[in-house]
Amino acid sequence: MLLDVRDLHVEFHTRDGVAKAVNGVSYQVDAGETLAVLGESGSGKSVTAQAIMGILDVPPGRITGGEVVFQDRDLLKLKEEERRKVRGAEMAMIFQDALSALNPVIPVGDQLGEMFTVHRGMSRKDARAKAVELMDRVRIPAARERVRQYPHQFSGGMRQRIMIAMALALEPKLIIADEPTTALDVTVQAQVMELLAELQREYRMGLILITHDLGVVADVADRIAVMYAGRIVESAPVHDLYKAPAHPYTRGLLDSIPRLDQKGQELYAIKGLPPSLLNIPPGCAFHPRCPLARDVCTTDEPPLYDVEGHPGRGSACHFWRECLHG
Ligand code: SF4
Ligand code: MG
Repeated sequence: MLLDVRDLHVEFHTRDGVAKAVNGVSYQVDAGETLAVLGESGSGKSVTAQAIMGILDVPPGRITGGEVVFQDRDLLKLKEEERRKVRGAEMAMIFQDALSALNPVIPVGDQLGEMFTVHRGMSRKDARAKAVELMDRVRIPAARERVRQYPHQFSGGMRQRIMIAMALALEPKLIIADEPTTALDVTVQAQVMELLAELQREYRMGLILITHDLGVVADVADRIAVMYAGRIVESAPVHDLYKAPAHPYTRGLLDSIPRLDQKGQELYAIKGLPPSLLNIPPGCAFHPRCPLARDVCTTDEPPLYDVEGHPGRGSACHFWRECLHG
């Protein structure tokens, strides 16, 4: 097991009260495995990732419980200095917005090279050569010339490739990609996702792919964890989940994907909005939006039930059987 997140809790103290952003999240990632974490904005998927990376703003964010066991060490117990060593070298993050993640006034080659001068003590010349090699690796054409260019001189897709190169530089064991292709147009999205998947296989890294878009994960993820209101509501191997979701929320998300054979037909969208994290509904947090909800759902919080007959699957729905077979 590369990463084992256990019962993680994160709160944000705001002027309006305590926002419960992450409420007991557990998930695992093996070496060479891709876990997609799916959810609407505010579901806690990014906050969980930031807690794993150790970049959660403190305050107002606070980890109030749980463990983040990475290569047999609980990262939450490490000192910030040790934490910093893990970050970048052993785990790296790719963000949605490369333009704000890169420094606009430093050539991309120098930013890539810095990974090697700072972390590996290389000379500037060797680091430059490594930067060109990495840019080649993520298939940026004419890397030898472009290594001197600034971030704004690259297209969005090329900038995202540079972000991937930065993340890969020190050959981390785990990469967390938070909406890595959301800002790109559809064709470029597919190319960048393919590249990421290919490099992940080649380097045998664990990959956590955070997205709100069920459409982008089908071909690249091994497993999916679906989040809602700071909890995992369904967890399953990707193909099982597509075939037959075991949670009404997942079913709603699947029904919202545009399908070629239903052109013109109105898409099913889940009614209502995700809850405020300041005021999560009692019982099952999804009950105000759930087509299967009944009385027990408003009072009893569903645990993550094992989905019988489907090893490795879990659903936080009292009526998962009905959903699975419905
Ligand atoms: Fe819907 Fe009830 Fe299942 Fe929650 S527990 S998803 S409200 S049926
Ligand atoms: Mg986010």
